[in-house]
Amino acid sequence: MSATHSRHASRAPLAVKVALPIGVLFTAVASLATLGDVFATSSAYTELPAPAAAMTLPVVQATGERAADPCGEAEVRDALAAGDDAAAVAAFGGGEEFRAAVTAGNAPCISLQDPNRSWVVINKQRPLRPETFEPGALTRVSLQSTTPSNRLRPEAAEALARMAAAARDAGVGVIGINNGYRSFGVQQLTYSSHVRSQGQERADAGSARPGFSEHQTGFAIDVVACDSGCTGIGAFGDTAQGRWVAEHAWEYGFIVRYEHGETGTTGYLPEPWHLRYIGTDLAAAYHDGDFRTLEEFFALPAASDYDF
Ligand SMILES: [Zn+2]
Repeated sequence: MSATHSRHASRAPLAVKVALPIGVLFTAVASLATLGDVFATSSAYTELPAPAAAMTLPVVQATGERAADPCGEAEVRDALAAGDDAAAVAAFGGGEEFRAAVTAGNAPCISLQDPNRSWVVINKQRPLRPETFEPGALTRVSLQSTTPSNRLRPEAAEALARMAAAARDAGVGVIGINNGYRSFGVQQLTYSSHVRSQGQERADAGSARPGFSEHQTGFAIDVVACDSGCTGIGAFGDTAQGRWVAEHAWEYGFIVRYEHGETGTTGYLPEPWHLRYIGTDLAAAYHDGDFRTLEEFFALPAASDYDF
């Protein structure tokens, strides 16, 4: 059984993605709200698992809680101007509120195409713009690395270090890194070597074309298990570390970007080793909403293949 399966089997059904009548939905939310005291000591993102049903519901205008125009809020504008993605999401009211506003078309100040933002969505239909984009700041990850491509955005590097420390403390072993940031040029080399060794069709199922890789944003990382020597990325899913990561990565702001069974949406075969940093608030909303792809999370079209 894969790590993905075991995670799903052990997870309580927090949110059911069905279209509920509005009244039922908000009654359910209201009754959850009365449990607030129970969760008073837990961190913000574990308090109220928000229903994912909003994606399939008509846009509700009056919730009484959400800002009518979040992009008009000074707190949101200041956070965006400061490049503080976590503060921006918090200023929306949290990860689910951010997601709901974006998918409802109520957040024109949020671009899912901006590769400087931790909410950027890159896939086979959504290349980096500009295609040779380079992140402003990158920092070396403080973990054992199996390649020289071991840099990430500072916030992602810091989160990864915390996640690896937690895995070690939980007794599941050492997590190392295979690839973090890859430039457009490195991606050209990576992709063409896959094409040479596997042919284009297989290469496209497991490797992004240059200008289409999440690794170029500095928010994506391939992790490995390093107990007595590091494994390759392909072995990661069946290690203790791989199973732990599938269960806990969201707590540190990461999602497993290419899950089992989602190739039709993501365009990639399952990659339990490929983690994408989206920040803790968004990752909590993703987890609580039981999402499997970033495309689904932001109500974007599937990206099973390129147009060329
Ligand atoms: Zn990767």
